[in-house]
Amino acid sequence: MAIAAENKLMTGEEYIESLRRRKPLKLYLNGEPVENPVDHPIIRPSINSVALTYDLAHDPEYKELATAKSAITGRIINRFCHLHQGTEDLMNKVRMQRVLGQKSGTCFQRCVGMDAFNAVFTATYETDKKYGTEYHKRFVNYLKKVEDNDWIVDGCMTDVKGDRGKRPADQQDPDMYVRIVERRPDGIIIRGAKAHQTGAINSHEMILMPTVAMREEDKDYAVCCSLPADAEGVVYIYGRQSCDLRKLDESPAGDIDSGNPCYGGQEALVIFDDVFVPDENVYMAGEWEFSGMLVENFSGYHRQSYGGCKVGVGDVMIGAAALIAEYNGCPKASHIKDKIVEMNHLNETLFSCGIACSACGKKTEAGNYLIDTLLANVCKQNVTRHPYEIARLLQDIAGGIMVTLPSARDFLNPETRTYLEKYLASAPGVSVEDKMKLLRLIENLTLGRAAVGYLTESMHGAGSPQAQRIMISRLADVEQKKQLAKDIAQIKK
Ligand code: SF4
Ligand code: FE
Repeated sequence: MAIAAENKLMTGEEYIESLRRRKPLKLYLNGEPVENPVDHPIIRPSINSVALTYDLAHDPEYKELATAKSAITGRIINRFCHLHQGTEDLMNKVRMQRVLGQKSGTCFQRCVGMDAFNAVFTATYETDKKYGTEYHKRFVNYLKKVEDNDWIVDGCMTDVKGDRGKRPADQQDPDMYVRIVERRPDGIIIRGAKAHQTGAINSHEMILMPTVAMREEDKDYAVCCSLPADAEGVVYIYGRQSCDLRKLDESPAGDIDSGNPCYGGQEALVIFDDVFVPDENVYMAGEWEFSGMLVENFSGYHRQSYGGCKVGVGDVMIGAAALIAEYNGCPKASHIKDKIVEMNHLNETLFSCGIACSACGKKTEAGNYLIDTLLANVCKQNVTRHPYEIARLLQDIAGGIMVTLPSARDFLNPETRTYLEKYLASAPGVSVEDKMKLLRLIENLTLGRAAVGYLTESMHGAGSPQAQRIMISRLADVEQKKQLAKDIAQIKK
């Protein structure tokens, strides 16, 4: 990967061009190899979403929010490359994610890298403190490169896990968790796969982290390292998303029927088929005691993130609900107004959680700021629920036509258009074409491609609900609460 060091604060267009300079990826989509991901109609909308994270840093309205002063060089960098230097930074991260959710209506992918930077920064510091290793220095050097080149880095955590009842070293197939298969004098060889990798194909680089706390016998699985997205031996298999083929229709009908013609999210299965990583890019190689800390911190940051990005998409959902009520001529119906209040209440509750875990963040010994882990887990636990209720209310307000609507090609065909203009008409002054576009957006958000990012990802992204419940049970001090009850009831023992 050759990107000029002076290429700081790339624009969206420059970012897209930088992807073209990567070596060809070994990428498969729908059974076919893909040579040019940048211009592929299914992939391009997801690249456009990432491009927004670059353009925001140049937008006069959001420039301050989307940039930060580097803790490493003192220069102005994109916030997505930043080590949080205070609670205001943590809150600004969430605010920025909300704005990007509002603009894209989907997942813009760049947060996993930012969350990985902050988690690995602390874990390497702690590892060096115990073992006198050099991981932290290496990682800071790497981060400087990330900042200088304004890279998007995919944070790769989730292993495929095989038999869920068995730990990494106990699996029948030892490759069910990414592991070190060989240690060489100048680096390591890794093998395994990471599932559901957000934005992997749209990234310049990736950082691999372990997915669970390891035991001593799992030490070959305690591996954290970074590598270029176009490294030799990396294979990508693109994840299908509901209604993705609608993006292949490049006609005006396709633009209407896709619901969100410009933007999309992206997940892929990434396989590491004996990939060499030089020592300078290795940040954990067997120090299993620090894998748990790394997993918890990364998950905590990403659970915080959801209090921003999902809220931004929630804003689009609420707007779509209010708009379709207007189009249908019933914006003043009391039950509609009440449902929109409820949607706002649910959405702002998520935002409050994102802000609260940021405001209560603390400085780490390494020097960056960590969110309040209990509150971040509460944030994500709410995210596994509230978006489903928001989507349910939106579908309720939209009506059944969001799934029975004839295709845009029928609308554009003069033989059927007159019927559709007549029988799909609603409130005066509302064009049938606009109504169709809005209904398709609602379909996209609640059932289609964006529903992957808004609903399923709300459930499973940054850890499934049970993972947060385990953390909440560990972090909430119930013994202290029992004592409170005893004190008030004047129970002596
Ligand atoms: Fe960012 Fe949200 Fe996508 Fe995660 S799900 S990468 S936090 S936009
Ligand atoms: Fe995610």
